[in-house]
Amino acid sequence: MSWWVVLTAVLMGLAIAWVGIVALRAASGPGPRENPEVEDVEELEVFLVCRECGTEFRVTRLGELQIPRHCGEPMEVVRRPAADDRTPS
Ligand SMILES: [Zn+2]
Repeated sequence: MSWWVVLTAVLMGLAIAWVGIVALRAASGPGPRENPEVEDVEELEVFLVCRECGTEFRVTRLGELQIPRHCGEPMEVVRRPAADDRTPS
């Protein structure tokens, strides 16, 4: 067995180990990739409010903020205290 065979074997082993570690990291672990910063806001009273017509959407989970539009205008994110004292405008 010549030295380059040993070297190749070692390099192959390292490559396989590296691939295994990368695959393991991708497969397991606390995957921050699946839900990037999804904020569970069900405890808070978060609403998307349309200032034009007054339509409100209750938000239970806040992901990457993409404000939907209503009546051609971006809706407004309104956080209200958990107490159920909404004042009808
Ligand atoms: Zn509207």
